[in-house]
Amino acid sequence: MDTKQQDKKYIMNTYGRYDVALKSGKGCYAFDEDGKKYLDVSSGIGVNSLGYCDDGWVEAVTKQASSIQHMSNYFYSPEPSKLAEKLCTLTPFTKVCYGNSGAEANECAIKIARKYSFDKYGSGRNEIITLKNSFHGRTVTTLSATGQDSFHNFFFPFTEGFLYADANDIKSIENLISDKTCAVLIECVQGEGGVNILDKSFVQAVRKLCDDKDIVLIADEVQTGVGRTGKLFCYENFDIVPDLITCAKGLGGGLPIGACLCTEKLENVMQPSNHGTTFGANPVVCAGANYVLSKVSDEKFLDEVNEKGAYLKEKLLKIKGVKSVRNLGLMVGIELEKDNAHNIAVKCVENGLLIITAKNLLRMLPPLNISFDEIDEAVEILDKTIQEDI
Ligand SMILES: *Cc1c(COP(=O)(O)O)cnc(C)c1O
Repeated sequence: MDTKQQDKKYIMNTYGRYDVALKSGKGCYAFDEDGKKYLDVSSGIGVNSLGYCDDGWVEAVTKQASSIQHMSNYFYSPEPSKLAEKLCTLTPFTKVCYGNSGAEANECAIKIARKYSFDKYGSGRNEIITLKNSFHGRTVTTLSATGQDSFHNFFFPFTEGFLYADANDIKSIENLISDKTCAVLIECVQGEGGVNILDKSFVQAVRKLCDDKDIVLIADEVQTGVGRTGKLFCYENFDIVPDLITCAKGLGGGLPIGACLCTEKLENVMQPSNHGTTFGANPVVCAGANYVLSKVSDEKFLDEVNEKGAYLKEKLLKIKGVKSVRNLGLMVGIELEKDNAHNIAVKCVENGLLIITAKNLLRMLPPLNISFDEIDEAVEILDKTIQEDI
């Protein structure tokens, strides 16, 4: 049986896959089992922030794997400690809680927000306002947090206490706030929802509302964090500081990690036995994340992410058949004249460009260290693919 047959026979059918089995990769290029080469502007959904098998990242990870691969959270460990110090030094946050995925990081943030409120105001103040069209994960609680009806099916009963406001409409948030509200959870740029960049004035108004009522503001930075939008974290583009942020995807450079970061006000909410995970704070994963952060936190590196994002947008807008482009740094959504993004993505893959979609848009989340030449090549393949379809 070949890989595709094996997959179809033995792996549950939870994903519609492209017709490609990837076997290896280097930098922005991946290779399938037949040796065909693909330029990847999806990074495994924003995960491979330094591309495939970056030399320094491989060295950091293999060195740690051959030194000690795991210990339980009942012991101290250098790599997760170093990573937490780095995260807290580079940001206004004061403490980190580790997990293994974006959904888990959001679960942690939700628990912290609810416990903060419980400790201070007693029971019943537990409602969380999220935005319509958001995406926060696939656990039963983060599905609840996700503000899209299509995610609230089959798996009843869902976690209670989530209300959905309209993005960029502060009145809509005000109308849902009551003495039961403990948190507001937002993505400053909605990723899965279609690369929707929130208005700065809206985000700032949400911050002010939360300040006035001691409501915890959580920013889901799972997709936007760790350099993706040209800042270390996306909230910096909006000149606010959330009380909690969650990050995951790009942080480990290709290994599973989730992290929830909080400000001083919340740093003692979680106590022993309130939260935990067996695999969280894994030293191999944290060694990879330490390497990623050492590169991505550099101001010059982040400036280049912005320059490349602007360059990519300008080139994309010149393609016949492209209607509009939305981007913040290298988080890019492409709206086509024809409503056929999925079809174009499939054909791009056939033509050697790995690209993804978000709703009815094409989406690019290239490795943050993609070169200008590679951007030119990606745009060329996309242009050719769209023209073939017209
Ligand atoms: C991907 C994503 C998640 C879920 O992350 P997982 O690692 O798949 O659990 C949550 N929030 C946002 C904004 C995401 O993009």
